[in-house]
This record gives sequence, structure tokens and C-alpha cells, in this order.
Amino acid sequence: MPKSILSEHSKYVFSAIREEDDFAEELRKQGKKVVKLSSGDPALYYPTPKYIVDAYVEALANGRTSYSRSQGVLDLVDAVIKRYWHRYGIDMKEQDVLVTSGVAEALTFLNSAVIGLGDTALILKPYYTQYPVAIQMFGGRPLVGEYDEGTGWSIDLDSVAKVVRRMKGGSGKIKYMLITNPNNPTGTILPRKTLEQVVEIANENRILLVSDEIYDEIVFGGANFTSVCELAKGMPHLILNGASKAFDATGFRIGYVLAPEEDTVSEELKRKLADYCRVRLSSNTPAQYAIAAAMNNTGEHQRTVRELVKKIEKIVGVAMKGLGENHHLSAVRPQGAFYIFPKIHMKTLDFRNDREFVHALLEEKLVQTTRGSGFGAPGHFRIVALAPEEIMGDCVQRVNDFCRAHAK
Ligand code: PLP
Repeated sequence: MPKSILSEHSKYVFSAIREEDDFAEELRKQGKKVVKLSSGDPALYYPTPKYIVDAYVEALANGRTSYSRSQGVLDLVDAVIKRYWHRYGIDMKEQDVLVTSGVAEALTFLNSAVIGLGDTALILKPYYTQYPVAIQMFGGRPLVGEYDEGTGWSIDLDSVAKVVRRMKGGSGKIKYMLITNPNNPTGTILPRKTLEQVVEIANENRILLVSDEIYDEIVFGGANFTSVCELAKGMPHLILNGASKAFDATGFRIGYVLAPEEDTVSEELKRKLADYCRVRLSSNTPAQYAIAAAMNNTGEHQRTVRELVKKIEKIVGVAMKGLGENHHLSAVRPQGAFYIFPKIHMKTLDFRNDREFVHALLEEKLVQTTRGSGFGAPGHFRIVALAPEEIMGDCVQRVNDFCRAHAK
């Protein structure tokens, strides 16, 4: 008998975002009131809009409770096609859209479909925590380029070029390059010019470009968002998106993959990803109908998402103001999503690393955040800017008091 029943690659499956959850639970059991600033979940603070909940209830009442079309119910597929036509001028066909149980499932499907033992994919740090896990769990190896804090966390194109060059010299092929825009955990929105350069690098080196754009509607005033689908015409690319953030419906578990092109790679991927969808039967059926109705109800949707973004922008403002008073930390102002990713000036504090910092902040001040090393960026921590302004203001004061108490 082998020592363990577990597979070799299961050791990579781990969530840094949830690693303090058990300790937070323990504190709550002791009667302490922990504020959770660690989960990027808008529905935790702001209930899913009533018109979406009503659409869900209606779907149930109409008997939409069976398995449904594996690649997504046609109502939702059509709604997604319309959304991309109106927002980005992209013309897609039914087979270009694959509905998944969240972007999380899309990432698992994609990696399972393209990553074999020893294969590589290029991600950039700080990265969303699932990215390296999803590569490693299929025996792959993440190649890690960088977002550059010095330029407001824009892409360090030299680091990307270096990784690509290094791989070119070897025998391996980079299966895909994945970017996140707007970004989790930094809140950065990539300038169009930078995106054009990324597209060029991917195109020149024949690398599939994947863009996770789940925050494409959480964009603050003054910032301009460009989707990769607007720039990558004629080359293989995938767009990942879903209902979790902009529709404030994380628990519905609705996401989708778009493959708008018709080249050999895109066509092969579409067919295989559809097979993955079929093998897992279907996504949540009533949730798909509800999101289809919500997506088609553009008036209600625009109104509610505008309100949500306005709220988030104010919360970010409160947090940034408070953090600005703390010379033990420095943070790039986010332009979208709902995260702040401060750098910890570790040498001025009595902590050895971000893990100790985050754990002690939870224990002493009952504020739960996430360590930056979980996103590949040690010496930082992530604050989720969703708690109402008063709570956020109070939490940031607690962070500031905490740093003061631990100053060297
Ligand atoms: N991608 C990014 C960048 C995210 O931040 C998240 C969730 O926080 C996800 C994907 C997962 O989204 P979903 O709820 O659609 O699985």
C-alpha cells in the first residue's frame, strides 16, 4: 500500500484566502466580533438585487429545475452574446460561449484541457490565488511574470518578454498566458497601450491569451477599461467572465468562457471545453435563467451596478484616506474591482513576514485580511473594500493602531 491515498498533485490544492477562516471561527466562538475583509464577495454585504432574486424564484416556479443544456441554456448564451455585442462590438455565435459554474470551474476546465505533466502557463504576480493551483493540480508548472508596483501595478512587459524568451530557448511551449483586468488583488486597470503590447507578445509567440475580466463592470470614475476581445481579433484568445461580481450573485455560481475566434486552436478548445461541460452535465439551471433575465434587463442592471460601484468607490476612498496616515504601509490607489493591496514596510515593524502580520491583526484587532504571499507578493496584504464606509473606516483605524503598537 502507498503511504497516502492522495495524488501527487493534490498537495498544491490550497486556498490562502480562506486559511485564517478556522482561526476567525474560533475567535467568534469565544464571543469576539471578527470583521471579515478577506472575501471578495459583494453579496456578503449587499443582497443580490431583488429583480435577480425574483427571476430566480420565477425560474423555479416555471419548473426550470432539471439539468439543462451542458454548454449553457440558450437564453443565457444569447444574453451573453448581446452583452458583448453592445459593450465591446464583438460578434459571437452560440458555440463561442460556454457557461460554467463560475470562473473557478472555467479555470479548472481550461487547465485540465491543456495542461499535461510538465507543461507551463504564464501568469503574473500578484495573481489571483486559484491560478497557480489550477495549473499545478494537473501537473503543470506556472511561469511567473510580474505586475510592477512602481508603475501602479501595470504589467512589467520586460518580465513577460524574459519568461517567453527563456522558454523559447528550451523545448517546452507556454500553453497560455493569463492576465487579470481589472485586477484582483491590486485593483489595477491595464492601460489600452499595455494591453496592445501584451496582445502583440502573445501573437508574435503564438501563445493563447486568456483574460480574466470578471470585474469588467467594477470600474471607478475616470478609469477606462478595454477588453482583450477588442484588441486580439484574429488570434486565439479566451475571455473569462461571470455573474459573481457585477451581478452581485456569487452564490449563483454562474460564469462563462468566450472563444470568439475561428482559428484551429480556438475551434479545438471550444469543442473540448464543451466536452468538459457535458461531462459535468450542467450548471445550476434556475441560476442561469435568472442571470439571463438580469443581463437582458439592462435598465435595472445599469442602475444597480452603478450604485454598487459608487458605494465601493466611496469605501475605497475612506480606506485609502486612513491608510495614507500610516507610514508603515503604502498602497497604490485601485481603479476598479474592490481590493486594496498595501505594501507593509516590514523593517519598521516587529513582524518577520506578511503571514505573521495578518495573523496578529486578526488576533489582536479582529480584522481578517489575506497575506500577500498567498498572491505571490510577500510583504503585502489584501483588504477587501466592501464593508460599509463606517466599518471600513473603523477597520483601517484598527490597522493603524495595530501598526503603531508594533512599530520598532
Ligand atoms: N477570477 C478572479 C480574478 C476572481 O477574483 C474571482 C473571485 O474572487 C474568480 C475568478 C472566481 O469567480 P467565480 O465566482 O466566477 O468562480
